[in-house]
Amino acid sequence: LLRPVEKIAAVIELYPRGLAGFRRYCDLLDTVPEIADRPGARPAPAFRGEVEFENLRFGYDEARPVLDGITARIGAGKTAAFIGQSGAGKSTLLSLVPRFYEAAGGAIRIDGHDIRDLTLDSLRAQIGIVQQDVFLFGGTLGDNIAYGRIGATRDEIVAVAEQASLGPLIAALPDGLDTIVGERGVTLSGGQKQRVAIARAFLKNPPILILDEATSALDTETERAIQTALDALSKDRTTLVIAHRLDTIRDADMVFRLEGGGLERLNGAPVEPARVWA
Ligand code: ATP
Repeated sequence: LLRPVEKIAAVIELYPRGLAGFRRYCDLLDTVPEIADRPGARPAPAFRGEVEFENLRFGYDEARPVLDGITARIGAGKTAAFIGQSGAGKSTLLSLVPRFYEAAGGAIRIDGHDIRDLTLDSLRAQIGIVQQDVFLFGGTLGDNIAYGRIGATRDEIVAVAEQASLGPLIAALPDGLDTIVGERGVTLSGGQKQRVAIARAFLKNPPILILDEATSALDTETERAIQTALDALSKDRTTLVIAHRLDTIRDADMVFRLEGGGLERLNGAPVEPARVWA
């Protein structure tokens, strides 16, 4: 029932925990990891972050294509906003970048490398994901942030928590970063959980970022805190964002609209609110 971006996010967040954690989570989802390294796959070099879709085709079942010839190039460090009606395929398109699903035709290239020629872990290690619904493990808030990168020091966790606008929350919690969160601890709100995901992404510091902007209503202060953190996070990295806010669309370097399996570049022209459905 989980949508692709949520799934890849969970997988990617779990990746540093090793295959054991990954498999356990797949068992939970009753999903078998279908994508594997190709024979001869090589580790990706450090990405600059140019992302290219070439005549990309994909469908969850063959009879019904979701993406039917997607072509676009997003320069390294640029922000591309993807808009389109519900079900148009925005999450699907972005879930193909970390190879959560395999394209039926065409290619995705990063800095000119076909992603199928790269090892999965070296690809996914360089892609950060911040999605709407964040999976928190039972454990401390600090542990949950540390999933962004195994081996992070306490100082690093404190620093990224601050960058993710989690400072006031940590100050208010009984044991700060050591407060147990999740089912057996303090329940975090959707906006707070999203900031945990942002902190994880800061810690991971990937050259490519995938954002699924929140659709649920957040109070103004929370929204501002999240937006400030996201703006800082997307700076100097390629950002592919499923955009729901007009400001995000206005500020993006490129805006693409998905419709009928195709992708239309809106050429950086001002987007009228009437054309934004999401
Ligand atoms: P929204 O804005 O509602 O999130 P979207 O533009 O992101 O929509 P997708 O979630 O990519 O659209 O869905 C595209 C199409 O693929 C829809 O028809 C959807 O029902 C279908 N779909 C999405 N995920 C799966 C899945 N795991 N299995 C089968 N079909 C799926």
